[in-house]
Amino acid sequence: MKLKKKDWILILIIVCVAGGAFLFHQVVGGRGANCVTVKVNGEIEGTYSLSEDREVSINGGTNILQIKNGKASMISADCPDQLCVHQKAVSMNHENIICLPNKVVVEVESSEESEFDAVTN
Ligand SMILES: [Zn+2]
Repeated sequence: MKLKKKDWILILIIVCVAGGAFLFHQVVGGRGANCVTVKVNGEIEGTYSLSEDREVSINGGTNILQIKNGKASMISADCPDQLCVHQKAVSMNHENIICLPNKVVVEVESSEESEFDAVTN
């Protein structure tokens, strides 16, 4: 099989488009891609970026989530067990904090996988 000149041009175009898409994905995905999704009783109450320091009042104030230095942790809760408050801060994809009594779930979601985490850490 012998490739003609126009075949090579076609291949070149495909490589350029694929490479461009890859770079675009890296640049866009690598900027504040991590966020936390807050669910109450199975319903999404909000999504918050981990790149922005803030405190989030969940479920009308029963739980207070703190986002600081790219990590999210439950700093206050009115539940009797206080298990969620004692859980360590989450920042990695799919890590979560669960408050069973209040049916609150905080989960980290990232469009990038471990590669991005390796860069930021
Ligand atoms: Zn709790």
